[in-house]
Amino acid sequence: MTFNQTLDAIRVYEAGKPIELVVREFGIEPKDIIKLASNENPFGCSPKVQEAVSAIVSKMALYPDDSMYKLKDGLAKRFGIDPHEVVIGAGSDQVIEFAVHAKTGPGKKILINSITFAMYEIYAHHVGAEVIRTASRAHDLDEFYALYLEHKPSIIFLCTPNNPTGDSADAADVKAFLSKIDRETLVIVDGAYMEYARYKDSAKALEPKELIEAYDNVLYLGTFSKAYGLGGMRVGYGIAQRDIITALYKLRPPFNITTLSLEAASAALEDEAFVQRCIAKNFEEMDRYEAFAEAHGIRAIESYTNFVTLCLKEGTSSTEVADALLRQGMIVRNLAGYGLNAIRVTVGKPEENDRFFALAAELV
Ligand SMILES: *Cc1c(COP(=O)(O)O)cnc(C)c1O
Repeated sequence: MTFNQTLDAIRVYEAGKPIELVVREFGIEPKDIIKLASNENPFGCSPKVQEAVSAIVSKMALYPDDSMYKLKDGLAKRFGIDPHEVVIGAGSDQVIEFAVHAKTGPGKKILINSITFAMYEIYAHHVGAEVIRTASRAHDLDEFYALYLEHKPSIIFLCTPNNPTGDSADAADVKAFLSKIDRETLVIVDGAYMEYARYKDSAKALEPKELIEAYDNVLYLGTFSKAYGLGGMRVGYGIAQRDIITALYKLRPPFNITTLSLEAASAALEDEAFVQRCIAKNFEEMDRYEAFAEAHGIRAIESYTNFVTLCLKEGTSSTEVADALLRQGMIVRNLAGYGLNAIRVTVGKPEENDRFFALAAELV
């Protein structure tokens, strides 16, 4: 059977390997497997989330509240915005999908960083848009601007902090950049790891309220999958001025978020102290990764997230290292597919990191 030609350009996205796969393929007991591959919160979510979700399991037969009143209200209060300036997606991934479908297509272009979140490109290919990338590894906003002038993209993606490298642009530089972009170009600021960046260095923190008040062409994205510990529930959000939100709403399938997920996200927002404790712990453990890298003569890219990218020495292959770790039950992300001889490791619990250091010491 033939399919739409736009599919020819798409590689099937490879998510971080799940624990179940390692159990099946390598016959390792689940308790002996450590997953540091998808940037989940190793401490999970707040116990209050589990209580809130347990309390409403009897509601599973009913369709969700499609207005998503409670969660939108919670987000509006958190960010000091209006609930009409929020759209909720099944992960911020789904908001990216809406935005790409709303704004770009055949004969149009999107502009992204050389190495960045793979889904931007995949969604652009869905709609037949052309993908332009920078040459530099870190978000070089001068290069972004030059390519913007040259290509007039319909969407620019800024992923800050960036996945899979962990580095972050300065908020002041991003704002200066936004001031130079015309109002017809949608600029998507993906803040999937912003909670971590905000904690580590306020100069990196972009506040959605400030962005959308100053720029009517900005869509800010956030997610509950990372710091909030709800990767399995699939909840993310977009924040923008109303006309952007209205456009995205036209593409939203009804009931795109389940009742349990909505409740989980609302409860997670209410226990900010839990999230902040996890983030503090994350950066304590991050110091140990930096020390490990230094002790082994490899480079750790300075990270504003809950993962660290370790650039391996010439002659050491990231594919071999990742495979050797996997055979011992340690799942990390090999970045060879991104053109980097590097592995990306989610900062885990102290004992998980101990095990990573012990295994990796023999391999890097
Ligand atoms: C994890 C991630 C997302 C989206 O995650 P969802 O689980 O779909 O909310 C978006 N952008 C980046 C850069 C990410 O790392």
